[in-house]
Formats: sequence, structure tokens, C-alpha cells
Amino acid sequence: SPQLAMLALNYDYAGTAMPFNARHNLGIQGLLPSAIETQDMQKRRALVQLRSKETPLEKYIFMAQLRNTNVRLFYRIVCDELEELAPIIYTPTVGKACLEYSNIYPFLAPPGVPDGLYLTLSDLPNLTSVIRNYRPFPTDPSMTPQIAVISDGSRILGLGDLGVNGMGIPIGKLQLYVAGAGIDPRRTLPIVFDVGTNNETFLNDEFYLGVKHKRPSDEIFYPAVDAVLRALHEVYPDLLIQFEDWSSEHAFELLERYQNKIFCFNDDIQGTGAVILSGFINALRIVKEKDNVQPKDHRIVFFGAGSAGIGVAKQLLDYFVLEIGMPEEEAKRLFWIVDSKGLITQDRGDRLAQHKVYFARTDNNGRQFKELFDVVEYVKPTVLIGLSAVPRTFDETVLRRMGELNKQPIIFPLSNPMTQAECSYEEAMVHTKNRCIFASGTAFPVYTVPETGEKRIPGQGNNMYIFPGLGLGSIVAKPKHITNKMVFASAVALAKALTEEEIAQNLLYPSLTRIRQVSAQVAAAVCVQAVQEGLATDPDVLGYIPTDDAETTQHRGPGWERLIKFMESHMWRADQDGYGADKLVVNRSRM
Ligand code: NAP
Ligand code: MN
Repeated sequence: SPQLAMLALNYDYAGTAMPFNARHNLGIQGLLPSAIETQDMQKRRALVQLRSKETPLEKYIFMAQLRNTNVRLFYRIVCDELEELAPIIYTPTVGKACLEYSNIYPFLAPPGVPDGLYLTLSDLPNLTSVIRNYRPFPTDPSMTPQIAVISDGSRILGLGDLGVNGMGIPIGKLQLYVAGAGIDPRRTLPIVFDVGTNNETFLNDEFYLGVKHKRPSDEIFYPAVDAVLRALHEVYPDLLIQFEDWSSEHAFELLERYQNKIFCFNDDIQGTGAVILSGFINALRIVKEKDNVQPKDHRIVFFGAGSAGIGVAKQLLDYFVLEIGMPEEEAKRLFWIVDSKGLITQDRGDRLAQHKVYFARTDNNGRQFKELFDVVEYVKPTVLIGLSAVPRTFDETVLRRMGELNKQPIIFPLSNPMTQAECSYEEAMVHTKNRCIFASGTAFPVYTVPETGEKRIPGQGNNMYIFPGLGLGSIVAKPKHITNKMVFASAVALAKALTEEEIAQNLLYPSLTRIRQVSAQVAAAVCVQAVQEGLATDPDVLGYIPTDDAETTQHRGPGWERLIKFMESHMWRADQDGYGADKLVVNRSRM
């Protein structure tokens, strides 16, 4: 029927931008108002509506509905107005949306337009057929998923166990893949593996939409995850599976199990590690050039030892080993890790969680340090990194001491959202006499130095600089699995992606407005690394790897440019093809 034709075309249906002949061919005359608009016109109207919404959650709901009625327009707006929209479709608003997901879900999408794949333990016997039920783009069977983002909802952002309500995260993350690297939205697969929740509020909430029992034991959990991953690869052998927001205790274990076996990565651990490493590389370059501080002379304190803290520490460690050439044991001694009980040492007297053991200090001569200030006094760090989710813990005394100890202390309060940051940019600047080199998890406002009026832009270690490009490069090269070296290559590529102007401004990260250029650089480096390791399985990419070694290390030159173009040629764009393309709209005419 004509109405089903419209529904089936959901993913390529451009509403009022659909030209007359397309309406005619579909046999849907009478089902749309007569105006035929450009995508620009649609965008202007949608922005007026969006901006008239009062709360961020209302904006989130508006955008979700737009995505379900006009995918192209949704992405056109997200891509064009990324700085305005990223905080709506992703953090911080997505957190609010997840808390409310069971309450808003029924109103986000029309029936027949599932927002993702919901798997439960009862699906285990028929996983492959359930997986096949979900088609992101039902009208074209060749549009099989290339990337899945999967969560069990157990640690959503800093909000804890949200069970099935965590679905907002895979959905939002995949939207950033589209915006950031032009992954085709028709080939994305958001998944929640709903094994239950330990969230008492949800278990007692009549409106909660997930499985209403507690999470299972590890004896049930691990084999179940195994079965899901196996079934996904049975249905889609080339699918890149990205783990997102699994509780730390499981996240490390899962990564260890799968990272050298199947095509996957964990963004909370590896993506965060890479993005922070990239800012760190640029910070080290600045203090080396300006203050003559050598890499091996750094002393790094991590405040927070969860999946992010340990993931980042391991990534930075790789840098000292792979780039600086230090032996691992020596490089490890540059790191001091603090958790809720204080400095992590081997003789602290508590049983350390498995992921903390590696960095536990053995040179403390029986002394233990509980307070961060005492750790700073003891270690005399050059670098202070916060991944604790505990706000204001880099207080005035800590920051002042960092300022006394260093010409340019490197201060990265990375906890999200902004309310959880260990300190603000302003606090860090004021208490270090405007000398710190800074990056945070959430973007802080530009700071004006009071004495000079000089404007200083803070760095933002946003995972979005890495995962879209890492995903794109992986899709193009199709390595058997994603190695640490590929993740490392993505970080180095991001560090090198700064323009001359950005370097002159002492920036640690490029502007987010250039995200697709940056993603192309990251993707290119991932492809080169995959080929160098002999793991790339897509023969096409081989013809695009520069033969000149200098080009692949310096990321410039004609061969490199050709590879970048090749990456860009894989990027889906909201304003190309389909009915929404302005080029298809000849004249504003009447039906
Ligand atoms: P997590 O697994 O819950 O880890 C939190 C860590 O902080 C734990 O090791 C905890 O200690 C420690 N901690 C808690 N209270 C503390 C205190 N008072 N003093 C010292 N340490 C304390 O969380 P996560 O996944 O690692 O994430 C942590 C934060 O990083 C979140 O805010 C997240 O938003 C942020 N993050 C930022 C980025 C980014 O900027 N790109 C990326 C990912 C995550 P125990 O181990 O003793 O409990
Ligand atoms: Mn996450």
C-alpha cells in the first residue's frame, strides 16, 4: 500500500523534499502536503523548532523523532551544527535521556521503526534469527550492518547501572560515527544485551521496560556474551563490534578475551586511552620545546583507577615503550595511580582488583598515602590526570603545588559530565598562575587572562576525535582484529592532525568543526598499521598505502593525500543522493 511504501522508505524518505516524480513513482500522491522544499529549507524550519524547545531532553526527543522521520535531515543538522547538537544527541543530554528511556521510548519512533536490537537471555536459543530480524535499512538487503555498538547497560556514563535504558548510548554513539566519520547510518547496529539490572529503582518502577530481575552470575554472563558475539559474526562476518559502557570489572575481562580474536574494540578503555594519549603527546611536545622537560623525566599521577584510568595509563605507557623506547619496567615507574583508598601500592593491605595490580607501586617503603595532596607532595608529578568522577578534587592546594613544582604543569581533569570534573579550566589557570597545560572531558569555556586580556582555549579530550576514524579505518581495511598498535596509531595520527595555526595557539586537539578531516587522518593511519601488521583483509586498501616510509610516518605527501581521499570517498554525506539531495529538487512546484 502507499502508506507502507512511505514507511518502508523511512531511511531515505525526505518528507517535503521528495520531488514530484518520486512521489508519483511511489504512488503516494495525497499523502504529503503539496510543497516541495530544499533540504536547506527543511533544516531552517527544524532549527527553529529545535531551538524553541526549553529543555535539553525536549531537544533530544525532538531530534530522535526527526531521525525516525527524515534521517538525512537529522544528519544534515547534526553534521552542520555539531557543536550545538553533540551535547544533545550525546553527553550530557543522552545521560538524562537514558535515565528516562523507559518513559520516552514509546514516543520516539513510529511503529515499524525499531531504534536498535534488544537481546535478552531468553533469546539465546535463537540468536541468529533474532539478529536477522533487525534491519536498519529494510528496503535494501545489501545494506548490512558494518558497526555494532553493544552495551549491557551496566555502567552508563557516570550514572551507573541503567539496564535496558542504556540503549540511548549505542544509538547516540553510532550517530557520532555517522557525523564524525561518515559511517553510513543504514549500516549501523545499536545493541543492548539486557541481562537484567541491579538498579533497585528500575526493578521497582512499573514503567521500566527491561528484564526485571537482577544481573546473572559470571558463570551465566560470560558464556552468554560469547554466544551473542558468535551469533553476530555468524550473521555478519565483517561486523566491527564496539563495546561501550560495560561495568569495569567485565569490560577489561571482555577486552582481554576478545581483542586478539575477533573484530572488536572497547571505546571506554581503548578509545579514551588513545584520545588522551594524543593530547598528552602534544602536551609533552610543548614542555619539551619550551621548558626542556624530556619525556623520560615525567612523573604522572592518575587520580581514578577505573576502566578509564587504567585504560589511559596503559595507553600512555605504550607511548614511552613504543615511541620513546624505554623498557616496560622502567616506563611503568613513571606512573602512580590513586583510587578511593589512596595511592595504589602492593602492600596497602587490601585485595587489589585485578586491573589495578599491574601499576601497584612497590617502592613506597611501607609508607601509604591516602590524600591526593600527600601523593603530590611525595611524587612531585609533572602530570596530573583525573578519571575519578569525583568533582573538585583538584582543589586549590593541589593545583597551587602543581604550579610550584612545574613551569607548565600538565593538568587533565577528565571526568564527565562537567559537574564531575576534578577542577574547572578557570580554577586550573588561576591556581597555576595561568601556566597549566589543560584538557578536560567536557568542554570548558574559553579563559581570558585578566592581566593581558589574552584568550586561552582549553583542550577537550573528547573520544569523538578517535572512535569514528578508528571505526572507519577498520571498516575499510577489515583487519582480522584491532591491535593495540592500531589504536596507538590512531592516537599518533590525531596528535599530528593539528594545523599550523592550532599549534601556534598551543592547542592540544584540533577544532571539532574539522572532525571529518581529522577522522580521515585517523582512519588512514589505522589502515597503514593494519597493512603493516599483515592483518588487513580488504585487498582494495593495499593499492592506497604510500610506498614511501617517510610519508607514512610523517602523515604527509602525495601518497598520503591519495590515501586520505580514499578514506573520504567512503564517507556517507547527508546532502548527497536520495530524495533529500537539493540537486534533485528542480523547482518549487505544486502537485
Ligand atoms: P569507574 O570505573 O567508576 O572508576 C572510577 C575510579 O575513581 C575508581 O578507581 C574509584 O576508586 C576512583 N575514585 C572514586 N572516588 C574516589 C576518590 N574520592 N578519590 C580517589 N579515587 C576515587 O569509572 P570510569 O569508567 O573509569 O570513568 C571515570 C570518569 O572518567 C567518569 O567521570 C567518566 O565520565 C570519565 N571519562 C572521561 C573520558 C574522556 O574524557 N574522554 C572517557 C571515559 C571516561 P575505586 O576503584 O577504589 O572504587
Ligand atoms: Mn562510554
